Amino acid sequence: MASFDILVTGGTLPDGTVKDIGITGDRIAATGDLTGAEAGEVIDASGDLVSPPFVDPHFHMDATLSYGTPRINASGTLLEGISLWGELKQIATVDEMVARALAYCDWAVSMGLLAVRSHVDTCDDDLKGVEALLHVREVVKPYLDLQLVAFPQDGFYRDPTARANTLRALDMGVDVVGGIPHFERTMADGAASVRELCEIAAERGLLVDLHCDETDDPMSRHIEALAYETQRLGLQGRVAGSHLTSMHSMDNYYVSKLLPLIAEAGIAAIPNPLINITLQGRHDTFPKRRGLTRVKEMQAQGITVGWGQDCVRDPWYSLGTADMLDVAFMGLHVAQMTSPQEMARCFTMVTEENAKIMHLDGYGLAQGDRASLVVLDAGSSIEALRLRPDRLCVISKGKVVSRQARNDARLTLPGRPASVRRRHPVPDA
Ligand SMILES: [Zn+2]
Repeated sequence: MASFDILVTGGTLPDGTVKDIGITGDRIAATGDLTGAEAGEVIDASGDLVSPPFVDPHFHMDATLSYGTPRINASGTLLEGISLWGELKQIATVDEMVARALAYCDWAVSMGLLAVRSHVDTCDDDLKGVEALLHVREVVKPYLDLQLVAFPQDGFYRDPTARANTLRALDMGVDVVGGIPHFERTMADGAASVRELCEIAAERGLLVDLHCDETDDPMSRHIEALAYETQRLGLQGRVAGSHLTSMHSMDNYYVSKLLPLIAEAGIAAIPNPLINITLQGRHDTFPKRRGLTRVKEMQAQGITVGWGQDCVRDPWYSLGTADMLDVAFMGLHVAQMTSPQEMARCFTMVTEENAKIMHLDGYGLAQGDRASLVVLDAGSSIEALRLRPDRLCVISKGKVVSRQARNDARLTLPGRPASVRRRHPVPDA
């Protein structure tokens, strides 16, 4: 008779199959019909969705939960956010950054978000954010995978010490090479920064993730340079372009040339729909551009696209809850991904596809994968997007790390049911 540490029974997986999952140590030991198996703990997930954990490939943990310090972003623009962050990082301390980041990680765990790629600002001669987040990466390691990107927020060349500090941050153990070519002084400097940053990654064997073309300027074409350098240096499959919002406004003929180049280079795209719908188009009157990159068009070319969250309660964004379903929900609307297949794809974009972008190993719900999963109060992945429901149970690396009681609304209506859960099964596609 099989015996497991934890047995999750009867859950519906995102692909619609119903399976039991047996966990031993930090691995999934068996899946399928495990009726009769013994376990130290049984979690009944009958009728509920069981998903691999949520993954966020684009976040700023050094700035999170700082909203209102030292003031709020009055114009709501990206540029005021950057200058406000410039004020905040002067007064921030390592201890205070650690406390904010750890508080955010608690939120993340409660939402079943168990892997986060966070950019960390390297434009600070003391590298306070780097010191803070390297510490946090170790503290949360038993339950959350935190991957750090060396991010020269004020420009790799534009800021006088950013280049040296970014290299120092990588020497200290930051995982990924970042950049912000559209914020350099000239287009030429932007292209040069893409070149050097990719060379640094190639030399050190690291991944690349640039804030790329986060602007409404249709002539911001650093993604083209990124695709070229990726090819030239053999970095296929190891590079991501975050935001890519200028593509929204680009000439259609140019995009028809650009997308195959991105596909050929194996570059992944990370749009951040909550932030891009908020920050872009601020200089427009009407019609006002949405500013989200061309998601479906990239997917049609075979390009991996993952939804990122970017910000929670910081100089750029006043809301946020660490819920990747909020992110996918906004992306679904702005990119008009409303067919059943497209909605289901939006769910995989905050799970499997983001895991692929981050090169997470052992990710998934198959035998031998790492025993990390989330039980959601929903019947399917599409219903999870609609309800953005409670995470009833979160397991990370074989341990239950969060639980939440089912919380149905109680009605007091004559002749009507006593409680309501707002479930509504989706017909077959
Ligand atoms: Zn960002």
